[in-house]
Amino acid sequence: MNQPTQLAANDTPQYEVIIIGAGVGGIYQLYRLAQLGVNVTVLEGAADLGGTWYHNRYPGCRFDSESYTYGFSFSKELLNEWHWKERFSGQPENLRYLNYVTDKFDLRKYMQFNCVVSAAKFDDANDLWRLRLQNGRELTCRFLVTAVGLLSAPTPPRIPGMETFEGPSFHTYYWPQEPVELEGKRVAVVGTGATGVQVIAALSDMVGDLTVFQRRPNWCAPLNNGPISDAEMADIRARYDQIFAKCLTSPGGFEHEPDRRGFYEVSREERLALWDKLYAEPGFGIWLSNFREIFFDETANAEFSEYIANRIRQRVKDPIVAEKLIPKDHGFGVQRVPLETHYYETYNKPHVHLVDIAETPIERITPTGIRTSERDYDFDIIVYATGFDAITGSYDRIDFEGVSGEKLRDKWRDGPITYVGMQIHGFPNLITIAGPQSGSASTNYPRGIEVGVDWATGLLQYAWDHGYTRMEATPEAEQHWSDQVAQMYATVLMRKAKGWFTGYNSNVEGHEAGRIRYFVYNGGSPKFRQTLIDMASEGYKGIEFRRAGSNEQKRRPHSDETLSTQTAG
Ligand code: NAP
Repeated sequence: MNQPTQLAANDTPQYEVIIIGAGVGGIYQLYRLAQLGVNVTVLEGAADLGGTWYHNRYPGCRFDSESYTYGFSFSKELLNEWHWKERFSGQPENLRYLNYVTDKFDLRKYMQFNCVVSAAKFDDANDLWRLRLQNGRELTCRFLVTAVGLLSAPTPPRIPGMETFEGPSFHTYYWPQEPVELEGKRVAVVGTGATGVQVIAALSDMVGDLTVFQRRPNWCAPLNNGPISDAEMADIRARYDQIFAKCLTSPGGFEHEPDRRGFYEVSREERLALWDKLYAEPGFGIWLSNFREIFFDETANAEFSEYIANRIRQRVKDPIVAEKLIPKDHGFGVQRVPLETHYYETYNKPHVHLVDIAETPIERITPTGIRTSERDYDFDIIVYATGFDAITGSYDRIDFEGVSGEKLRDKWRDGPITYVGMQIHGFPNLITIAGPQSGSASTNYPRGIEVGVDWATGLLQYAWDHGYTRMEATPEAEQHWSDQVAQMYATVLMRKAKGWFTGYNSNVEGHEAGRIRYFVYNGGSPKFRQTLIDMASEGYKGIEFRRAGSNEQKRRPHSDETLSTQTAG
């Protein structure tokens, strides 16, 4: 293997690789590169590592992937050492886990904290990236890897008067690190997505009075969490190979796999039997182990949605409140399904109130609370569970400038365009390991991220082995991939949803409902992985490579024949 530090270049960069972000993706990418002895650093904007699990400290925050399918799979020793205590582990434990992994593999020494990258400009003459941090510091690297997360650009709402509120108010992503005094307090939560559903149920046992401001309800299903005993953990350890093998072959990177029987081939009784079983089981089975027609067929989806609606009616005592909690504008599973713990029962508690702001919209935040079109509410604390500028938001917050001065945020203004979600024409030497349109974005995140990181590491190794200092997706390969990703939306009901999978966010200019953004790869994780394997074995077709100081281009033309064998199935 060529040592990456031996590359011939016109200008020697400080680092061979810079990774932006010390979350799940950044930690694994760092591990792989540190193992290879690469001159690498991680720049993390926060004061410590953990990404999502560092920031989101709100009560109730936890996995809704099974803990043992969320952990890293790369080290047998680590798998044998770590004991997951809950089937769906909570944020404090998840952060401890990421710290444990980092320390075990001695990765902290490569990490630099409080380093917010504000700009990254490609130096075309020297094949390197020049980064500027918020504090003015400048760094250079040959290859830049973004591990910036999918949901790390939080978006508070745009409501007049927010700055006038006299008590504490914060977005869930910025839940304070120091304890928040909640006992006896009057608390408002705005937003009922996956975060809202978790924080509302948890807060209801901690506060004096809780008012939920809901604009559109989501279809939620029980998480059915529970502890993992020593004996169960020993069994999981013995089955880890099997568990990860199953995750590799399932479309979502989970143990849950779709029911292969046709929705219409079985009787209504058989459908109900499956749904009763899935509703009582832990995790995403209710979504991912269901009949596949739920995702594609309006009639099948409507029948199942009505089943879930009846479950909500059974669980919420007040029929008027129950109806408000049942989505009427979309069917089950076309938006990301929040998994909940006693969420619906929360509304049976006398001190919990639901305000339907589709009926009585919020007009402004006042110094003492929230004013709707109907009345004023007084609060001690306001919590905004209003979501994220998903997937491209964290890219837009960095001023990426590629060849010829092209800005990434301009290129992606109407939606991302990428090659396999990890390469961008016009932005050489940039690897977006869980970028838009990659397989990682729509799967059990760490399973997807391991696929992305392994591919990225192979690509870098290939460049080093051949002495290449520059790599860039061809425009043809990029267009072809993005067209395929868009085509995959044509068959799924999700294309109609107002959710982050289609780029909707009412608080981000240009992302209000209307224009669909093809953010996620809907072909399933096995197909994505196979595409990457084939591409690597064929010399990374669709990517052009070049050596510094040489005009010789090793052109690997994009082959329509091979790529067009992929379909949306
Ligand atoms: P989200 O799903 O985008 O939900 C945001 C919520 O805020 C929606 O109910 C939205 O209503 C509401 N909202 C936004 N702006 C508003 C405004 N101006 N006024 C009133 N309501 C407003 O965001 P999220 O709940 O943070 O979840 C995002 C993603 O994070 C999830 O889909 C999931 O992938 C991930 N997540 C994962 C976990 C986990 O793994 N356990 C937990 C939490 C989150 P509208 O729908 O009407 O816009």
